[in-house]
Amino acid sequence: MDIQSKCVQAGYEPKNGEPRVLPLYQSTTYVYDTPEQLANLFNLSEAGHIYTRISNPTVCAFEDKMNALEGGVGALACASGLAAETLAVLNVCNAGDNIVSLSTVYGGTYNLFNVTLRKYGINTTFIEPTATKEDILSLIDDNTKILYCETIANPSMHIVDFDMMSSIAKEKGILLFVDNTLATPLVCKPIEYGANIVIYSTSKYIDGHASCIGGMIIDGGNFDFAGNPRYPEFNKPDESYHGLVYTNCAPASFVTKARVQMMRDLGCCMSPFNAYLTNIGAETLHLRMAKHGENAMACAEMLEAHPNVEWVKFNGLESDDNYNKARKYFREGYNSGMIAFGVKGGLAEANTFMSSLKLAKIVTHIADARTSVIHPATTTHRQLSGEQLIACGITENLVRLSVGIECSADIIRDLERALDNIN
Ligand SMILES: *Cc1c(COP(=O)(O)O)cnc(C)c1O
Repeated sequence: MDIQSKCVQAGYEPKNGEPRVLPLYQSTTYVYDTPEQLANLFNLSEAGHIYTRISNPTVCAFEDKMNALEGGVGALACASGLAAETLAVLNVCNAGDNIVSLSTVYGGTYNLFNVTLRKYGINTTFIEPTATKEDILSLIDDNTKILYCETIANPSMHIVDFDMMSSIAKEKGILLFVDNTLATPLVCKPIEYGANIVIYSTSKYIDGHASCIGGMIIDGGNFDFAGNPRYPEFNKPDESYHGLVYTNCAPASFVTKARVQMMRDLGCCMSPFNAYLTNIGAETLHLRMAKHGENAMACAEMLEAHPNVEWVKFNGLESDDNYNKARKYFREGYNSGMIAFGVKGGLAEANTFMSSLKLAKIVTHIADARTSVIHPATTTHRQLSGEQLIACGITENLVRLSVGIECSADIIRDLERALDNIN
């Protein structure tokens, strides 16, 4: 099936007489006839649901859809994007281990890595998007477990150089994690470019309606843990899971450990109701992403020509320094709906512009059907210092615009009127 049909149908195939639409299994637990049968499930010798913290039929159908869209070998849904990141990191990092991450990552990710994980002895070295292969290689030591980046950085709009990152990860035998939230599998499929683990905040385009917080981990199944001394926990029996050796679950070693060990212990699972709603949202992902990209292109062209705009960052514009990477890694004709631009002037002008908008609303969210704006320096990235803001590519006049799927002429009229209001 083409990816467009997978959006609509993957993950749930009803049998004779069963509901056409994926049912909502709002149940914590499951019934078995004999204790032996339940024991087999705990042994992983038989497949089935035990308890909704570990798995649930509605959640699994949504996981299977995301896995099919990304081309992985298994997926695990989490309560939020940050829960997915935390669980995926803790699946391979212990105290004393470290992560090498692009500095342009989402503000919440930056804080998780820079503050909270450090308290537990997991350190992160941040690299600038301009770092060369040699720079990055020199930062990787024996305790580095993860090379971390985003396909499209939020809000700097930097696109990752997949070829460089995956060659570093392969050379060193370490995992490459890619947060693909702003691209979605319609725009880019990181596993095809060497990502081992794909992370999502499904709260954004995947849901698309701003109704559910959620996250997803997708296992590319393309990393060989067997005999790799960097990841001993995959190669020796897990005493907390009666001697299970995760390399025996290959190619889905990573996601199996994440589910049966980490999700069991951390409990940050996605609720069945959120999986049910997000799955319905994902059924139109292909239509929405086409429209988001088309509308964003029209808005970016208008912004680039407007006298009250200092600069525009949108990888669909030929003038954008990420344009070539976008054309290399992105699906033909597709772009995300995210634009960052600088209002001519500073904070005051950015505020006047945003307060003058009518159709576009000021919200702490991005990537849903409705056009929205936010001022990262004073909101999502407020906790960062001046230096950290520069490292993330955030200036005082930067406005992050999430272009929705309304009629593009209406969005453009709203933006133009608000920009004209500055003078
Ligand atoms: C929003 C976002 C997250 C965090 O996801 P939540 O679902 O809000 O926890 C992570 N990465 C990126 C790129 C995001 O945009």
